[in-house]
Amino acid sequence: MATSDLTDYIAGLPKAELHVHHVGSAGPEAVARLAARHPDSPVPTDPALLADYFRFTDFAHFIEVYVSVVDLIRDATDIHDLTYDVGVDLARQNVRYAEVTLTPYTSVIRGIAPEAYCEAVEAARVEVERDTGTVLRWCFDIPGELGIPAAEGTLDIALNQRPDGLISFGLGGPEIGVPREQFAPHFAAARAAGLHSAPHAGETTGPQTIRDAIEHLGAQRIGHGIAAAADPQLMEYLVEHDIALEVCPTSNVCTGAAPSLDAHPLPTLVAAGVPISINSDDPPMFSTTLLHEYAVAADLLGLDRAGITDLARAAVRQSFLDAPGRAALLAEIDAYAL
Ligand SMILES: [Zn+2]
Repeated sequence: MATSDLTDYIAGLPKAELHVHHVGSAGPEAVARLAARHPDSPVPTDPALLADYFRFTDFAHFIEVYVSVVDLIRDATDIHDLTYDVGVDLARQNVRYAEVTLTPYTSVIRGIAPEAYCEAVEAARVEVERDTGTVLRWCFDIPGELGIPAAEGTLDIALNQRPDGLISFGLGGPEIGVPREQFAPHFAAARAAGLHSAPHAGETTGPQTIRDAIEHLGAQRIGHGIAAAADPQLMEYLVEHDIALEVCPTSNVCTGAAPSLDAHPLPTLVAAGVPISINSDDPPMFSTTLLHEYAVAADLLGLDRAGITDLARAAVRQSFLDAPGRAALLAEIDAYAL
């Protein structure tokens, strides 16, 4: 089949996105607008220059650039508008359900009250569903580089605000120098309150970080987790316990977590039977979209329409959507695939 046929097929396919960051989804126009409002920031105000600004030399540089964009989001209106834009952009790609990772702590320490933050994202969530039919849910993640105070702050916002869309608890940022186990009490409290556990692990460090995330944080899904490909025993464990990896191929190449797309471990993981979903992470920063990530995965795995459809089904099954919601979305996919 011609590639353009697959591109059209992917575009129309109803999809679930399980690993996409709120701030990291801000498009160049939105970032440039924010930069113009806050001229003390190093972020360029010209969308054309942002492509260069978003060219990362390594993972540490990526985090530095990411934080400079976080610094641009300073009030509840910024939060609301960004969230609404992210939702509409997902809807345009026919993403019908998305678990969006929010990092409320980084906004709260910049002076946005937790109540105002949660009201802003909830208002945007309701508007996105009203205007597009796309359902959004939230993962509140700890910015790991800010340590225990960030974990306590994130947990406090999650449990005391408990916005309707909140479904899971996560951990992002660098892995080197940020041991997973230090956050065990925070994840235990979040899980006791009914939130799912979906930390990042095994993106920039080895398989042990994934083991730590499972053992100490009760991980039900792993953000990235590509390091598992180097550890057959761990892959077996993931299969046996149905712990899925949220794989974001282009992101891994941009941050240096994988040396190239050709050398990406996705085929190894799939060959071992590890449950995976395909996701976009911080799409504009990596000049990608979820549609493009599906095309990349199809290429890496040699998939036809049926294989691509199975990728979409897998994401729905691995999602934290309730059973009726999952069944409805799977039925939509089946109807499309006929
Ligand atoms: Zn991520």
